Amino acid sequence: MKLLEGKNALVFGLANKRSIAWGITQAFHEHGANIGISYAGEVLKKRAVPLADSLGIDFVESCDVSSDEQIAQVAEKAKAHFGEIDIIVHAIAFANRDELTGPYYDTSREGFRMAMDISVYSFVRLSHAFQPLLRKGASLMTLTYYGAEKVVPSYNVMGVAKAALEASTRYMARDFGPQGIRVNAISAGPIRTLAAAGVGGFKAMHRKFVDMAPLRQEITIEDVGGTAVYLASDLSAKTTGEVIYVDSGYNIIGIPENFDDD
Ligand code: NAD
Repeated sequence: MKLLEGKNALVFGLANKRSIAWGITQAFHEHGANIGISYAGEVLKKRAVPLADSLGIDFVESCDVSSDEQIAQVAEKAKAHFGEIDIIVHAIAFANRDELTGPYYDTSREGFRMAMDISVYSFVRLSHAFQPLLRKGASLMTLTYYGAEKVVPSYNVMGVAKAALEASTRYMARDFGPQGIRVNAISAGPIRTLAAAGVGGFKAMHRKFVDMAPLRQEITIEDVGGTAVYLASDLSAKTTGEVIYVDSGYNIIGIPENFDDD
């Protein structure tokens, strides 16, 4: 059964075939959505365009989400191409590499500003820009991580940004609710992507994750894609403002099974 037939979806944040945005795009495609893709800028064009071509996607637009102007331009183009929009996926985050190691209190003012701007405010601004195009029943979603709630070594300013992103999800769910539009976040477990590679100690943490998570299974971009289809579809029609975990159950554990007691 195809769950997204007749729905127009825009996915922001495709960098390469490891991107969560790509897992979501493929899952949306399998479920019959009409898809548009956006990538960060010319450097990523050579990766984004062939991936889009492989699924027959012809709306592929560059957009640096730190620019209100570029966001407005993509919204204009989307209006001309799709008319109305049913689904927006925000799979974007950025922090300077040197902010993702060492103590959090060393975060620079500019590093803090940039992480919040690109990883949090961009979701707010995209929602603002696309609001006039959103159909009743539309679904907006973003990607977050457990480091928003608990301290994850080296995640630092990105953890603080994800906390703000989750709060933004709730505020926007309240704003959009009366229009029948839903806003949710997917909290994904660790996946080896370009963004994750920037987090100090990610590889070691990724290895330990499987031992601690109840399901003892790694998270894939396909796993996240499946949950994104659920959130985009009418199956989740009465779910808004939520953070949905795709983490093999990791977040429910207080003390790991193999806790060393000697
Ligand atoms: P990724 O590197 O493939 O995707 C991050 C995207 O953000 C890239 O496409 C990059 O171009 C884009 N981006 C950065 N700055 C931008 C800008 N100024 N304008 C437009 N786009 C910009 O990595 P990913 O892991 O797929 O990340 C997608 C989302 O998932 C992020 O929000 C990330 O924090 C979140 N997430 C990732 C993991 C993980 O372990 N990989 C876990 C939980 C949540």
